[in-house]
Order: sequence, then C-alpha cells, then structure tokens
Amino acid sequence: MKDKKTALNTLCVHAGELEDKQFKGAISPLYMSTSYAFEDVDVKRYPVILIRPTRKRFPGRLQLWNTGKKLWSSVVGMAAISTALMAFLHHGDHVVFQKALYGGTFNLVMEEFDKFGITYSFTQGPAPEDFEACIRENTKVLFLETPSNPLLTITDVEAVAGIARKHGLISMLDNTFASPVNQNPIVLGIDIVIHSATKYLGGHSDILAGAVVGSDAHIDKIFQLGKNLGGNLSDFTVWLLERSIKTLGLRVKAQNRNAKKLARFLEKHPDVSAVYYPGLKSHPDYALARKQMKGFGGMLSFELREGLDARLFMKELRLIKPSMSLAGVESTISSPMLTSHALLSEEDRKVQGISDETASFSVGIEDKKRPGKRYYQGLGQSGRPMR
Ligand SMILES: *Cc1c(COP(=O)(O)O)cnc(C)c1O
Repeated sequence: MKDKKTALNTLCVHAGELEDKQFKGAISPLYMSTSYAFEDVDVKRYPVILIRPTRKRFPGRLQLWNTGKKLWSSVVGMAAISTALMAFLHHGDHVVFQKALYGGTFNLVMEEFDKFGITYSFTQGPAPEDFEACIRENTKVLFLETPSNPLLTITDVEAVAGIARKHGLISMLDNTFASPVNQNPIVLGIDIVIHSATKYLGGHSDILAGAVVGSDAHIDKIFQLGKNLGGNLSDFTVWLLERSIKTLGLRVKAQNRNAKKLARFLEKHPDVSAVYYPGLKSHPDYALARKQMKGFGGMLSFELREGLDARLFMKELRLIKPSMSLAGVESTISSPMLTSHALLSEEDRKVQGISDETASFSVGIEDKKRPGKRYYQGLGQSGRPMR
C-alpha cells in the first residue's frame, strides 16, 4: 500500500509539538506539575489529572498518521488493550479473537473474562470467513492482530473490517508489530487501532506505554473507562515518547531493510528449517502483506532444524542479546515459549504453531558489516569479540 502523501519524517519530528512560549526552546517543554488551576476546566468531563499540558502532544502526533480523530495513551500496551476491550464489552457480550494472538492478550481473555460474564471465541484460522463463522447474536467486537506475535501471520484487514461493519460490530486491531510507519489500519476500515508503545514507538527498550487511536465517539468511551481504571500515561513518559517518535520513521525503515536481509539469509541457511517473515515471497500471505502494508517490519521468526537447541543457540550469540521485549534499536532474540507466550499451556502454544524451538528476532538498526578489529573490545556481551 503506497501512501506517498504522508510526509512521514516531518510528522515524526514536528506533529503535536508544544510551543515553548517562555524560552523559545527547540523542543517541547516538559511540565512536571501534577496540579493545575481548575477555574476553566469542565471538571465533570475532564478531571484535572487528564488535562496536563504535556499529555496533549503525543495525541497530536499519532492521530495525524493514523487519521483516527483521537487518541488515548496508557501506562502500558496491555492497559491499552484491556481498556479498549472493556469499554465496549458488557456482561453477556461476546467477542471474537483471531487465533494467532499476543500471549498477554490471550492471558487477559483466559484469566479475566469469565468473571465479567464475557464470552469469547478464537477463530479457526486467519481467513475472513473464520471471523464470520464465529459471530453470534451477542458478538460486539472483532479483534485482530497483524502481523501477529510471534509467527507473523497476516490477516486481511480490509475484509475483516468489512465483516465487522456488515454485522454492526466494532473492529479492533493490535498494530504493534507493524508500527504506524508500516500499516495504517484506520485507512483499511478498522475502528480502533492499538499500539504497545513500549515497542516501536518507544524504540529504545526504556519506555512502557500504550496508545489507542479511533473516532471521537470511540475514544471518548475508552477515555471514560481509562479515567475510572486509572491507567493513564505519565507526563515524563509522554515527553520521552515525543523524543523517540522523532526518529520513528528512520528507525523503522532501517529495521524493515535489515529484517528483509536477515530473513533472506536465514531462509538459505542449512541449520534453519523455517523462516516467518511477510516480506519473503515464500510467506503464504506475501501478496496480502504487500497490499495492506507499506513495509514488512522489523520482526521475524524462525525455527532451527531438528536436533539443534534453540536456547543454547540464543545464549551463544554475542552481540544479539536474549530479550523479553522487542523493537529496540538493538537487535534482540527471544523464545516465545519462555517469554511472550510462557503462560500459555503447551497445548495452546501448539494451536498457535509455536514450538519450543521457535526463535523470535527483533531486528535492530545495526550494520550488516562488523566493526573493525580495534573496535571489538567493549562491544558485545562481556567484552568478547562479536560474531
Ligand atoms: C508487547 C506487546 C503487547 C503488550 O505491550 P506492553 O506494553 O508490554 O504491555 C501487546 N501486543 C503485542 C503484539 C505486543 O508485542
């Protein structure tokens, strides 16, 4: 999907800027005050805690690229997911989730939904018909994740959004893996887009945050529940996020390029039995990914050939650190079985196609070429030369 009209990097650097009227500084000022004058505020609608000046910037930024009209930011990605879902689900309602789902979202459903009297179904597969087959009379929400964590399955966003509209349901999409740079689900017809900003938006493995983008009416509902539950993002994190987002376009494009190179390399490697990356022609949904994504992203997964120990392999890597999270500027590797999908039963992992040997690779912005010998010292873990 080409979207040439978006001046991506200009928006990344400038959208949502807060003018420093006092000192004319180059960047938005950071206001750490937790308390502001109340005279002019409609207190019933906007409790003081939610009108801090710093908080107004991040919304402006993401809103623009996603062309959603509004944004709610949360302390962490899971707060964005749970608050968005719970804002629209009541006792007696039903929700359809796609089978391939981030482990944390899966746990939220399995561990919490019963006590609220909310029922759910998981699709058989990623096809639009699979979503439609799960719809019941009391279904309220269709929830998608594409590309999915960790196996990079691709869901036809336009088709599933169309099904949701046809049945009068709300469509939600976890856009974390793609980032707003590579995929704009609002343009593809999705009602509510969710990001774990802990990942690409933050991009430096040092921020926990989440974001939800959608229409005024939808975000108002999420905002009201967020106000009651209290998962709002701190001003300081908003300020850090603003700094991170300035380089989002540059980072993600470099990660797209590196991931494609790495996927091609691994695909030919004799010790690798499978590579999952939507930018490979061998990916079953390559054509669909090309159609709905602007870039294929920095995440890929692979399976070592039988007999090789994935855990040992990860420990032996020198520069690439084993990591629980993803999407930083540094390349990291993860075992979904031990991290993102650790709390799932072996059976549930199997259903999702995740094996004990699946390795999930978060590709950073490093160079393909290794630094010269004299730079070796101090690089890589424990100062050992890199491989
Ligand atoms: C990490 C992740 C989340 C949760 O984000 P947190 O900020 O860690 O709560 C949600 N969805 C996907 C796809 C993720 O990778």
